[in-house]
Amino acid sequence: MTENAADFKARLIRRAGLSEAAVDAAWPEWWSDAAEASPSANAELRFTLARKLGLDPRSLMGKGQPKFIWDDSARFKGFSGDPSGERPILSSFGMALCRMLLGAVPDAIPVEPISALRLRKSILSGRQDIGLLELLSTAWAMGIPVIHLRVYPLTAKRMSAMSVRLGERFAILVARDAMYPAPVAFHVAHELGHIFLGHLQDGHSIVDLESIDELSSGADPEEQAADAYALELLTGRPSPEVVVEGPGAGARQLANEAIRVGQIEHIEPGTLAMVYGHATKAWPTAMASLRHIYGQPMDAWRVINQVALRQLDLSQLNDESEAFVRAVMGATHG
Ligand SMILES: [Zn+2]
Repeated sequence: MTENAADFKARLIRRAGLSEAAVDAAWPEWWSDAAEASPSANAELRFTLARKLGLDPRSLMGKGQPKFIWDDSARFKGFSGDPSGERPILSSFGMALCRMLLGAVPDAIPVEPISALRLRKSILSGRQDIGLLELLSTAWAMGIPVIHLRVYPLTAKRMSAMSVRLGERFAILVARDAMYPAPVAFHVAHELGHIFLGHLQDGHSIVDLESIDELSSGADPEEQAADAYALELLTGRPSPEVVVEGPGAGARQLANEAIRVGQIEHIEPGTLAMVYGHATKAWPTAMASLRHIYGQPMDAWRVINQVALRQLDLSQLNDESEAFVRAVMGATHG
């Protein structure tokens, strides 16, 4: 085959369309210049890259066009057309990664459908409200891994979140980051909606592309249903309202009202600010209120991946898969 490693890497980036970060994350630690001369090391390099990135290994052996395994198993929401061939890349990367994640969550019980209100009730027993941390611990308790992607398979990031089904197991990949928990909590709740409403067929995924401030479910009934599920889970109502007195309410005023109502209604105040932003389209005010609600910013991705690292049993994976999962989560080895 005699394609050197540098040319092979260039082929994955230029012809397959993968980001350099994704190829680097999947590149095995054992690779060295000395391995270049070994045909078996070259074959193993291609096999390991194929496994991690969801590529057909045979398509990596020659010098031809790399082929993704999951070509059309993903349904894309808020996405029209695919001029740059992003769909197979995202769905294959997501499926391959979720297979590894599920391997690190052994002995999980099969996921049963559950209504938003029943799930809300069970989460709220003993808790004041449902925020990002409560959603994460609920998902993990049900054997559904949730991680934040620090390595994205495409150069341009357009995905908010993705959910994947393999057999009776599910996983959620979050791509959109935020400085406060509420916007990301909504995406996680929305993906749980897709999962618990039975939108996913075995071996399929749903990729959500729009961000929360352009949330416009449009005519897609599954998107509307997942949004309603998320809102009902987080607030108790499929279409809640937040009213702030007077026109042109300020961020601090909104924050105070969200905290007051949240306390009474068992709704995380940041979620109420998002609901207000959605209803009024006053997104700058809604986003600015988060600073008053939470006190200080934090990276939502760190929260998600810290929880994930505590929950994943990475010893279930081989060293190569473990290194890849850690790299994708922005977690250095140790
Ligand atoms: Zn969706």
